[in-house]
Amino acid sequence: MHQLEQPIGILGGTFDPIHMGHLRMAVELHDALSLAKVHIIPCLQPVHRKLPAASAEHRMEMVKCAVANEPTLVADDREIRRKGPSYMIDTLLDLRQEMPNTPLCLIVGIDAFLGFASWHRYNDILDVAHIIIAHRPQYQLPATGVIADLVKNKRQTDTSYIQHHLAGGILLWPITALDISATDIRKQIAMGKNPRYLLPDTVYQYIKQHGVYNLSRI
Ligand code: ATP
Repeated sequence: MHQLEQPIGILGGTFDPIHMGHLRMAVELHDALSLAKVHIIPCLQPVHRKLPAASAEHRMEMVKCAVANEPTLVADDREIRRKGPSYMIDTLLDLRQEMPNTPLCLIVGIDAFLGFASWHRYNDILDVAHIIIAHRPQYQLPATGVIADLVKNKRQTDTSYIQHHLAGGILLWPITALDISATDIRKQIAMGKNPRYLLPDTVYQYIKQHGVYNLSRI
């Protein structure tokens, strides 16, 4: 077998706005799993939730502000450039075409992974990528059902698996628990409260400068 490239991480979401919970998860997994980079990919149209409060352009600009001084993180706009619903399988296939020799590691918070069986073509995702489930404080994996079976059958405990295979493994990884949510941040901003230290200052400056969140928009 020929040598593979260093794996990359892929973190998708609405990022409405991006905050320290997302960023801390990305850098911890970058370091723990020796990832080359983590691509942060805001969706254009979320498939499983209501429309974001901020436009795709604002959400993308906020991600760019957040990663500007962090060389391990990449602001990746491929879902916003692509028209139509943002299916993760399409994003992964696009990356696979661009990087045929690079293991792809899809990073998913455990709350998001609990809904994995409703994702478009979820059965195909492990053919294209590994899944890294980031533990968060208040969530547990189910003991039975589709998600439980998937984890039981595909789980790897040796992190070197992702260096030697292009796709197919599931890793569970505990991350520092930061109980921060974008919904709470939007509410705080709309009510005129100070959200500093929940998100990067550069992102907060952008929000203020462009009036991204106000009571009519959350
Ligand atoms: P909202 O509060 O509006 O639901 P969110 O903060 O959960 O938003 P998303 O953009 O929906 O943010 O999340 C993108 C990804 O980041 C998902 O995989 C989610 O599980 C994960 N995530 C969100 N918040 C945190 C956090 N505090 N710590 C670790 N991971 C998080």
